Amino acid sequence: MVRDLLRKHSIAKPDLLCATRGPGMIGSLSAGYNLAKGLAVAWDVPLVGVHHMLGHLLTPRFFQENAEIPKYPFVSLLVSGGHTMLVLSQSTTQHKVLANTMDIAIGDMLDKCARELGITGSMLAKEMEAFISSQPINKPAVDIALQFPNPLQNKQGRTNILAYSFAGFITSLRTNLEKYFPGVARASDLGVEQRRELARRMQHAIFNHVVTKSRKALQHAVEDGLLAAPTTQVPLDFVCAGGVASNMTLRQMLDDKLLKPGFPSDSIKFHFPPPKWCTDNALMIGWAGIELWESAGLYTDLSALPTARWPIEELLDMDGWLKRE
Ligand code: AMP
Ligand code: ZN
Repeated sequence: MVRDLLRKHSIAKPDLLCATRGPGMIGSLSAGYNLAKGLAVAWDVPLVGVHHMLGHLLTPRFFQENAEIPKYPFVSLLVSGGHTMLVLSQSTTQHKVLANTMDIAIGDMLDKCARELGITGSMLAKEMEAFISSQPINKPAVDIALQFPNPLQNKQGRTNILAYSFAGFITSLRTNLEKYFPGVARASDLGVEQRRELARRMQHAIFNHVVTKSRKALQHAVEDGLLAAPTTQVPLDFVCAGGVASNMTLRQMLDDKLLKPGFPSDSIKFHFPPPKWCTDNALMIGWAGIELWESAGLYTDLSALPTARWPIEELLDMDGWLKRE
Protein backbone atom coordinates (compact mmCIF):
# COMPACT_ATOMS: atom_id res chain seq x y z
CA MET A 1 0.00 0.00 0.00
CA VAL A 2 2.80 2.41 0.92
CA ARG A 3 4.70 1.58 -2.29
CA ASP A 4 1.59 2.09 -4.44
CA LEU A 5 0.91 5.42 -2.78
CA LEU A 6 4.42 6.75 -3.34
CA ARG A 7 4.36 5.65 -6.99
CA LYS A 8 0.94 7.14 -7.56
CA HIS A 9 2.07 10.54 -6.29
CA SER A 10 5.63 10.32 -7.67
CA ILE A 11 7.16 10.75 -4.21
CA ALA A 12 10.51 9.12 -3.41
CA LYS A 13 10.01 9.48 0.34
CA PRO A 14 8.16 11.87 2.66
CA ASP A 15 9.88 14.48 4.90
CA LEU A 16 8.09 13.37 8.05
CA LEU A 17 6.19 10.31 9.29
CA CYS A 18 3.20 10.67 11.62
CA ALA A 19 1.45 7.69 13.22
CA THR A 20 -1.04 7.19 16.05
CA ARG A 21 0.86 6.23 19.21
CA GLY A 22 -2.21 6.03 21.47
CA PRO A 23 -4.60 5.78 23.20
CA GLY A 24 -6.50 2.76 21.91
CA MET A 25 -6.32 -0.99 21.42
CA ILE A 26 -2.70 -2.01 21.59
CA GLY A 27 -2.95 -4.56 18.75
CA SER A 28 -4.22 -1.97 16.28
CA LEU A 29 -1.82 0.70 17.51
CA SER A 30 1.21 -1.62 17.27
CA ALA A 31 0.45 -2.65 13.70
CA GLY A 32 0.42 0.93 12.43
CA TYR A 33 3.05 2.38 14.72
CA ASN A 34 5.61 -0.35 14.10
CA LEU A 35 5.16 -0.03 10.34
CA ALA A 36 5.79 3.70 10.71
CA LYS A 37 8.93 3.01 12.75
CA GLY A 38 10.24 0.63 10.08
CA LEU A 39 9.63 3.22 7.39
CA ALA A 40 11.25 5.96 9.48
CA VAL A 41 14.41 3.83 9.80
CA ALA A 42 14.40 2.81 6.14
CA TRP A 43 13.91 6.37 4.88
CA ASP A 44 15.88 8.04 7.67
CA VAL A 45 13.15 10.59 8.39
CA PRO A 46 11.74 11.74 11.76
CA LEU A 47 8.71 10.02 13.28
CA VAL A 48 6.01 11.80 15.30
CA GLY A 49 3.93 9.58 17.60
CA VAL A 50 0.57 11.35 17.66
CA HIS A 51 -2.22 11.25 20.26
CA HIS A 52 -5.54 10.18 18.69
CA MET A 53 -7.55 12.98 20.35
CA LEU A 54 -4.99 15.57 19.26
CA GLY A 55 -5.87 14.57 15.70
CA HIS A 56 -9.53 15.40 16.40
CA LEU A 57 -8.65 18.67 18.12
CA LEU A 58 -6.19 20.11 15.61
CA THR A 59 -7.76 19.02 12.31
CA PRO A 60 -10.23 21.96 12.21
CA ARG A 61 -7.16 24.21 11.95
CA PHE A 62 -6.35 22.52 8.63
CA PHE A 63 -9.31 24.10 6.83
CA GLN A 64 -8.28 27.55 5.85
CA GLU A 65 -10.54 28.01 2.85
CA ASN A 66 -13.77 29.89 3.59
CA ALA A 67 -13.65 29.78 7.34
CA GLU A 68 -11.05 31.38 9.54
CA ILE A 69 -9.09 28.81 11.47
CA PRO A 70 -9.79 28.55 15.20
CA LYS A 71 -7.18 30.42 17.22
CA TYR A 72 -5.92 29.50 20.70
CA PRO A 73 -7.55 29.38 23.14
CA PHE A 74 -10.49 27.62 21.51
CA VAL A 75 -13.05 25.11 22.71
CA SER A 76 -14.03 21.92 20.87
CA LEU A 77 -17.13 19.82 21.31
CA LEU A 78 -16.39 16.39 19.83
CA VAL A 79 -19.61 14.52 19.21
CA SER A 80 -19.22 11.25 17.35
CA GLY A 81 -19.87 7.52 17.51
CA GLY A 82 -16.89 7.14 19.85
CA HIS A 83 -16.50 10.45 21.72
CA THR A 84 -18.50 13.09 23.57
CA MET A 85 -16.00 15.55 24.92
CA LEU A 86 -15.65 19.28 25.54
CA VAL A 87 -12.00 20.36 25.40
CA LEU A 88 -10.26 23.67 25.93
CA SER A 89 -7.16 23.93 23.72
CA GLN A 90 -4.64 26.55 24.84
CA SER A 91 -1.78 25.67 22.48
CA THR A 92 -0.65 22.81 20.23
CA THR A 93 0.26 20.75 23.27
CA GLN A 94 -1.98 22.08 26.09
CA HIS A 95 -5.50 20.66 26.24
CA LYS A 96 -7.91 20.58 29.16
CA VAL A 97 -10.96 18.31 29.22
CA LEU A 98 -13.90 20.41 30.47
CA ALA A 99 -16.46 17.59 30.26
CA ASN A 100 -16.49 13.99 29.08
CA THR A 101 -19.06 11.21 28.86
CA MET A 102 -19.46 8.96 31.89
CA ASP A 103 -20.76 6.09 29.80
CA ILE A 104 -21.35 5.76 26.06
CA ALA A 105 -20.89 8.31 23.26
CA ILE A 106 -23.73 10.45 21.96
CA GLY A 107 -23.64 9.00 18.42
CA ASP A 108 -23.81 5.50 19.83
CA MET A 109 -26.94 6.39 21.83
CA LEU A 110 -28.61 8.20 18.90
CA ASP A 111 -27.97 5.13 16.74
CA LYS A 112 -29.42 2.80 19.42
CA CYS A 113 -32.58 4.92 19.76
CA ALA A 114 -32.95 5.15 15.99
CA ARG A 115 -32.72 1.36 15.70
CA GLU A 116 -35.34 0.98 18.44
CA LEU A 117 -37.63 3.26 16.42
CA GLY A 118 -37.32 1.01 13.38
CA ILE A 119 -35.02 3.31 11.39
CA THR A 120 -32.75 1.51 8.94
CA GLY A 121 -29.64 2.45 6.98
CA SER A 122 -25.91 2.60 7.53
CA MET A 123 -25.78 5.79 9.63
CA LEU A 124 -28.88 5.44 11.76
CA ALA A 125 -28.78 8.82 13.54
CA LYS A 126 -28.30 10.55 10.21
CA GLU A 127 -31.31 8.68 8.78
CA MET A 128 -33.25 9.67 11.90
CA GLU A 129 -32.53 13.36 11.28
CA ALA A 130 -33.86 13.00 7.72
CA PHE A 131 -36.92 11.12 9.04
CA ILE A 132 -37.65 13.85 11.59
CA SER A 133 -37.19 16.77 9.20
CA SER A 134 -39.40 15.25 6.49
CA GLN A 135 -42.40 16.59 8.46
CA PRO A 136 -42.52 20.28 9.46
CA ILE A 137 -42.08 20.81 13.17
CA ASN A 138 -45.03 23.18 13.52
CA LYS A 139 -47.51 20.44 12.68
CA PRO A 140 -47.07 17.81 15.36
CA ALA A 141 -49.12 14.87 14.18
CA VAL A 142 -49.25 13.27 17.61
CA ASP A 143 -50.25 15.24 20.66
CA ILE A 144 -48.84 13.09 23.43
CA ALA A 145 -47.16 13.67 26.74
CA LEU A 146 -43.67 12.18 26.69
CA GLN A 147 -41.03 12.45 29.35
CA PHE A 148 -37.34 12.38 28.64
CA PRO A 149 -34.61 12.94 31.21
CA ASN A 150 -31.84 15.49 31.31
CA PRO A 151 -29.32 13.32 33.20
CA LEU A 152 -26.99 14.61 35.92
CA GLN A 153 -29.14 17.63 36.65
CA ASN A 154 -30.73 18.88 39.84
CA LYS A 155 -31.55 15.58 41.52
CA GLN A 156 -29.33 14.41 44.39
CA GLY A 157 -27.05 17.41 44.09
CA ARG A 158 -25.80 16.27 40.71
CA THR A 159 -26.42 19.56 38.97
CA ASN A 160 -22.78 20.59 39.13
CA ILE A 161 -21.31 17.41 37.72
CA LEU A 162 -19.39 18.45 34.62
CA ALA A 163 -19.98 15.32 32.56
CA TYR A 164 -22.38 13.87 30.03
CA SER A 165 -24.37 10.67 30.40
CA PHE A 166 -26.35 9.01 27.61
CA ALA A 167 -26.91 5.45 28.79
CA GLY A 168 -30.34 6.26 30.30
CA PHE A 169 -32.00 7.52 27.12
CA ILE A 170 -32.74 4.11 25.65
CA THR A 171 -34.52 3.07 28.88
CA SER A 172 -36.53 6.30 28.85
CA LEU A 173 -37.61 5.58 25.28
CA ARG A 174 -38.89 2.17 26.41
CA THR A 175 -40.52 3.65 29.53
CA ASN A 176 -42.39 6.19 27.40
CA LEU A 177 -43.59 3.39 25.17
CA GLU A 178 -44.95 1.36 28.11
CA LYS A 179 -46.57 4.38 29.71
CA TYR A 180 -48.13 6.15 26.74
CA PHE A 181 -48.61 3.30 24.26
CA PRO A 182 -49.73 0.33 26.39
CA GLY A 183 -50.02 -2.86 24.39
CA VAL A 184 -47.40 -1.85 21.82
CA ALA A 185 -44.49 -4.23 22.22
CA ARG A 186 -41.84 -2.34 20.23
CA ALA A 187 -41.44 1.31 19.28
CA SER A 188 -40.93 0.18 15.70
CA ASP A 189 -44.53 -1.15 15.70
CA LEU A 190 -45.97 2.37 16.15
CA GLY A 191 -47.43 4.37 13.28
CA VAL A 192 -45.08 6.54 11.26
CA GLU A 193 -46.25 9.85 12.79
CA GLN A 194 -45.94 8.51 16.30
CA ARG A 195 -42.45 7.22 15.59
CA ARG A 196 -41.49 10.56 14.10
CA GLU A 197 -42.72 12.45 17.16
CA LEU A 198 -40.89 10.09 19.52
CA ALA A 199 -37.72 10.45 17.46
CA ARG A 200 -38.01 14.25 17.39
CA ARG A 201 -38.48 14.60 21.13
CA MET A 202 -35.88 12.04 22.02
CA GLN A 203 -33.28 13.65 19.77
CA HIS A 204 -34.17 17.01 21.28
CA ALA A 205 -33.71 15.64 24.82
CA ILE A 206 -30.29 14.20 23.97
CA PHE A 207 -29.11 17.45 22.39
CA ASN A 208 -30.58 19.49 25.24
CA HIS A 209 -28.44 17.45 27.64
CA VAL A 210 -25.28 18.11 25.60
CA VAL A 211 -25.99 21.82 25.31
CA THR A 212 -26.88 22.40 28.98
CA LYS A 213 -23.85 20.48 30.27
CA SER A 214 -21.53 22.16 27.77
CA ARG A 215 -22.83 25.56 28.84
CA LYS A 216 -22.26 24.70 32.48
CA ALA A 217 -18.72 23.49 31.77
CA LEU A 218 -17.95 26.69 29.84
CA GLN A 219 -19.28 28.84 32.67
CA HIS A 220 -17.11 26.94 35.14
CA ALA A 221 -14.04 27.34 32.94
CA VAL A 222 -14.61 31.11 32.94
CA GLU A 223 -15.28 31.23 36.70
CA ASP A 224 -12.13 29.17 37.35
CA GLY A 225 -10.05 31.58 35.27
CA LEU A 226 -9.15 28.94 32.67
CA LEU A 227 -10.81 30.92 29.93
CA ALA A 228 -11.45 34.65 29.50
CA ALA A 229 -15.16 35.48 29.37
CA PRO A 230 -16.12 35.68 25.68
CA THR A 231 -17.25 39.11 24.51
CA THR A 232 -18.61 40.61 21.32
CA GLN A 233 -15.19 42.17 20.67
CA VAL A 234 -13.23 39.01 21.45
CA PRO A 235 -15.51 36.08 20.67
CA LEU A 236 -14.65 32.52 21.61
CA ASP A 237 -13.79 30.14 18.76
CA PHE A 238 -15.99 27.09 19.29
CA VAL A 239 -15.47 24.00 17.14
CA CYS A 240 -18.17 21.36 16.92
CA ALA A 241 -16.83 18.29 15.13
CA GLY A 242 -17.56 14.56 14.69
CA GLY A 243 -20.34 12.78 12.81
CA VAL A 244 -23.14 14.12 15.06
CA ALA A 245 -22.00 17.74 14.44
CA SER A 246 -23.58 17.58 10.98
CA ASN A 247 -27.01 17.52 12.63
CA MET A 248 -28.81 20.79 11.89
CA THR A 249 -30.98 20.67 15.01
CA LEU A 250 -27.89 20.36 17.20
CA ARG A 251 -26.23 23.29 15.41
CA GLN A 252 -29.35 25.41 15.91
CA MET A 253 -29.60 24.50 19.60
CA LEU A 254 -25.94 25.34 20.21
CA ASP A 255 -26.42 28.64 18.45
CA ASP A 256 -29.58 29.42 20.47
CA LYS A 257 -28.60 28.21 23.91
CA LEU A 258 -24.90 27.61 24.42
CA LEU A 259 -24.13 31.02 25.84
CA LYS A 260 -27.54 32.23 26.92
CA PRO A 261 -28.12 33.39 29.51
CA GLY A 262 -24.80 34.69 30.76
CA PHE A 263 -22.76 35.89 27.80
CA PRO A 264 -23.56 38.28 24.93
CA SER A 265 -25.31 36.42 22.12
CA ASP A 266 -22.64 37.12 19.46
CA SER A 267 -19.69 36.29 21.68
CA ILE A 268 -19.11 32.91 20.12
CA LYS A 269 -17.79 32.03 16.69
CA PHE A 270 -18.91 28.58 15.61
CA HIS A 271 -16.82 26.32 13.40
CA PHE A 272 -18.42 23.22 11.90
CA PRO A 273 -15.65 21.52 9.89
CA PRO A 274 -16.73 19.12 7.12
CA PRO A 275 -17.32 15.65 8.65
CA LYS A 276 -15.69 13.80 5.74
CA TRP A 277 -12.33 15.24 6.77
CA CYS A 278 -12.86 15.13 10.51
CA THR A 279 -13.28 11.35 10.46
CA ASP A 280 -10.36 10.69 8.11
CA ASN A 281 -7.76 9.36 10.53
CA ALA A 282 -4.90 9.64 8.02
CA LEU A 283 -5.56 13.35 7.58
CA MET A 284 -6.19 13.95 11.29
CA ILE A 285 -3.02 12.25 12.49
CA GLY A 286 -0.92 13.58 9.63
CA TRP A 287 -2.01 17.14 10.30
CA ALA A 288 -1.59 16.90 14.10
CA GLY A 289 1.91 15.45 13.57
CA ILE A 290 2.80 18.33 11.24
CA GLU A 291 1.61 20.83 13.86
CA LEU A 292 3.65 19.07 16.57
CA TRP A 293 6.74 19.12 14.35
CA GLU A 294 6.36 22.64 12.97
CA SER A 295 4.78 24.61 15.84
CA ALA A 296 6.00 22.74 18.91
CA GLY A 297 9.26 21.45 17.40
CA LEU A 298 8.57 17.93 18.66
CA TYR A 299 9.12 14.42 17.34
CA THR A 300 9.39 10.98 18.91
CA ASP A 301 12.29 8.74 19.84
CA LEU A 302 12.28 5.46 17.87
CA SER A 303 12.54 3.45 21.08
CA ALA A 304 9.15 4.77 22.31
CA LEU A 305 6.30 2.24 22.39
CA PRO A 306 2.63 2.65 21.47
CA THR A 307 0.41 3.16 24.50
CA ALA A 308 -3.14 2.04 25.28
CA ARG A 309 -3.69 4.68 27.98
CA TRP A 310 -2.69 8.29 27.41
CA PRO A 311 -4.89 11.11 28.79
CA ILE A 312 -4.87 14.12 26.44
CA GLU A 313 -4.12 16.40 29.41
CA GLU A 314 -0.85 14.46 29.86
CA LEU A 315 0.25 14.81 26.27
CA LEU A 316 3.82 15.83 27.06
CA ASP A 317 4.18 13.64 30.16
CA MET A 318 4.60 10.56 27.98
CA ASP A 319 8.18 9.33 27.53
CA GLY A 320 9.93 9.54 24.17
CA TRP A 321 9.45 13.16 23.10
CA LEU A 322 12.48 14.77 21.42
CA LYS A 323 12.98 18.45 20.70
CA ARG A 324 13.87 19.42 17.14
CA GLU A 325 17.07 21.42 16.75
P1 AMP B 1 -17.99 9.46 13.64
O1 AMP B 1 -17.84 8.60 14.87
O2 AMP B 1 -17.39 10.82 13.77
O3 AMP B 1 -17.56 8.72 12.38
O4 AMP B 1 -19.55 9.73 13.43
C1 AMP B 1 -20.47 8.67 13.31
C2 AMP B 1 -21.64 8.92 14.23
O5 AMP B 1 -22.28 10.16 13.89
C3 AMP B 1 -22.68 7.84 14.11
O6 AMP B 1 -23.19 7.56 15.39
C4 AMP B 1 -23.73 8.50 13.22
O7 AMP B 1 -24.99 7.93 13.35
C5 AMP B 1 -23.67 9.93 13.71
N1 AMP B 1 -24.22 10.88 12.73
C6 AMP B 1 -23.84 11.05 11.45
N2 AMP B 1 -24.62 12.00 10.85
C7 AMP B 1 -25.49 12.43 11.80
C8 AMP B 1 -26.54 13.41 11.83
N3 AMP B 1 -26.87 14.11 10.74
N4 AMP B 1 -27.21 13.58 12.99
C9 AMP B 1 -26.89 12.88 14.10
N5 AMP B 1 -25.93 11.95 14.13
C10 AMP B 1 -25.22 11.72 13.01
ZN1 ZN C 1 -11.79 9.34 17.53
